[in-house]
Amino acid sequence: MPVVNKAMLMRLYSSLRKRFGYLDWWPGETRDEMIIGAILTQNTSWKNVEKAIARLKGNGLLELSKLSSANIGMIEQSIMPSGFYRQKACRLKGLAAYITSNYKNLDDFFSSETQELRKELLSLDGIGNETADSIILYAAGKPVFVIDAYTKRIMKRVYGIDENMEYEELQKLFMNALGDDAPLYNDFHAQLVELGKNYCRKKPLCAGCPARKLCNFARHPQTH
Ligand code: SF4
Repeated sequence: MPVVNKAMLMRLYSSLRKRFGYLDWWPGETRDEMIIGAILTQNTSWKNVEKAIARLKGNGLLELSKLSSANIGMIEQSIMPSGFYRQKACRLKGLAAYITSNYKNLDDFFSSETQELRKELLSLDGIGNETADSIILYAAGKPVFVIDAYTKRIMKRVYGIDENMEYEELQKLFMNALGDDAPLYNDFHAQLVELGKNYCRKKPLCAGCPARKLCNFARHPQTH
């Protein structure tokens, strides 16, 4: 496996940051909204999530305490634009009910040690690695690096990292290199998403890409 160290990752981060500026993620006003958004964004674009969040807000359901006792049909109807709405409505209601019935509030829920909190979230229905880590990093402010499809694609193209590498292995690569730094993880992930959306798409737009000078793929496209 190619060696990727802190200096290499920080060069990538700096070049993205220079282009995109500080991105101030997660796009959500409250921690409840961030948790809800982390579930809604499963298998869909953020545009659809925004529509679902606006409808939840309009129906007074953008709070975990409200979702936990809401009629499931009402939740389904509100989040329809996000797709998989039946499944996601169950997940939202289930997570909201779990937190509100087992904890005094979100501070209480987030008070456990990071890996314990991660295990607890992963034990809940419909919460996988990316959703759990988005909640831990963005809503709880604890240091875990979020890996998504953009991250995998960019790491493959820029550094030649195997795209099929296990989620936790790739996560370790970032976390071992960068150390526990929640604010850096927060903005680094946001920068990778911006790069993936605007340049490193399935069909890459390498001309003008801020990572071009660092990228294996851009240097040797014929070998990929
Ligand atoms: S140079 Fe091309 S392949 Fe490399 S990160 Fe940018 S868009 Fe992706």
